[in-house]
Amino acid sequence: MQESRVYLDHAATTPLDGRVLEAMLPHLRGGAFGAGNPSSLHAPGVAAREALEEARGFVARLVGATPEEILFTSGGTESDNLAVLGLAAASPEKKHVVVTAVEHPAVRNAAAHLRSVGYEVTTVGVDADGLVSPDRFAEALRPDTALAAVMWANNEVGAVQPVEEVARACEERGVPLHVDAVQAAGRLPMDVSRVPASTLAISSHKLYGPQGVGALYVRAGVHLEPVVFGGGQEGGLRSGTENVAGAVGFGEAARLAAGELEERTRRERGLLERIVAGATALPGVRLNGHPEKRLPNNAHLRVEGVEAEGLVLFLDALGYAVGSGSACASHSAGHKASPVLLAMGQNEREAFSAIRVTVGKSNTPEEVDGFLEAFCTAVTKLRELSPLYGKPASPVAISGQQ
Ligand code: PLP
Repeated sequence: MQESRVYLDHAATTPLDGRVLEAMLPHLRGGAFGAGNPSSLHAPGVAAREALEEARGFVARLVGATPEEILFTSGGTESDNLAVLGLAAASPEKKHVVVTAVEHPAVRNAAAHLRSVGYEVTTVGVDADGLVSPDRFAEALRPDTALAAVMWANNEVGAVQPVEEVARACEERGVPLHVDAVQAAGRLPMDVSRVPASTLAISSHKLYGPQGVGALYVRAGVHLEPVVFGGGQEGGLRSGTENVAGAVGFGEAARLAAGELEERTRRERGLLERIVAGATALPGVRLNGHPEKRLPNNAHLRVEGVEAEGLVLFLDALGYAVGSGSACASHSAGHKASPVLLAMGQNEREAFSAIRVTVGKSNTPEEVDGFLEAFCTAVTKLRELSPLYGKPASPVAISGQQ
């Protein structure tokens, strides 16, 4: 790995904050402080329980919930699965589900699973900016809708959805709404008292906490069925000994994010504007997604005449880590066009030519300027090599034919 690498892929994961690591260490080392099982009655168990409950309080505060409404999971994927499958199982007489066309696979594939066992799934489309219309979403809701799901902010193009309006439409019709807030938590102000969602998923590693731990907010009074069975931890909804060190790290990351949100947003937005202005100054480079209704750290760039994976690898060789599509799609889905970009009306060629640049709280204007220089070099070189770039789109006349 290059020494002076600049990390610009914070939507995929964020580096662990040093303060979070410090908070976690005693619980990883064990000894007198920790290593207890929070379900045990002895002193190490009690210490672990206290640490877990303190962390729960910090996570709750980040989203405006009460600690009783937060349960720890192994991450965003599990939280999304538990919400979608758990809400469906809680009203077995209803066999209809509504999701948007731009959901993360953790929601999309959970809904696909429900379809495979007999549910009808309505997928609500988005506009060219990746935004859902609350009216169209509301129209899809039916008396037999077991649950609906909308993400707060999109992991690819950063589109911030009208979650409040969607949640109100669901509330009026008595349909439980799950909100995937994995990308939004810690980046946008969040208050579940203003957004009447039933459940909301968050993940620690998107906000400078450790990987492999997340949380599901379950509004008081909302009924969910568990999908994991065992010792009944986390209110019976997520059995299994809790990841205490992970939860402590998540709690500390949530506490820091809540306190630093404004400052982080201000800095990130400044860097983002610099990236967008610099990158789109090159011919054939455009910003995907809505210019304003987007995450403050996300620049999703469509680069005409360039194949995204080649560009990502070129930039990587120059010391800049950026994303192509979404992190989850890069390895597991093979070489498929992003369903999010296709849902926004782009064709396959356009969808294959987009990179995602997501800044974080430690990036600097100098790093961004270095990135822009590397971007310009890489794009120019790749276009020179491309047999198609700059050539007319019309078929070439074959001699002898008119
Ligand atoms: N939902 C969204 C919007 C995401 O961006 C991600 C991760 O990329 C997930 C869910 C899954 O979260 P995790 O990686 O914690 O399983």
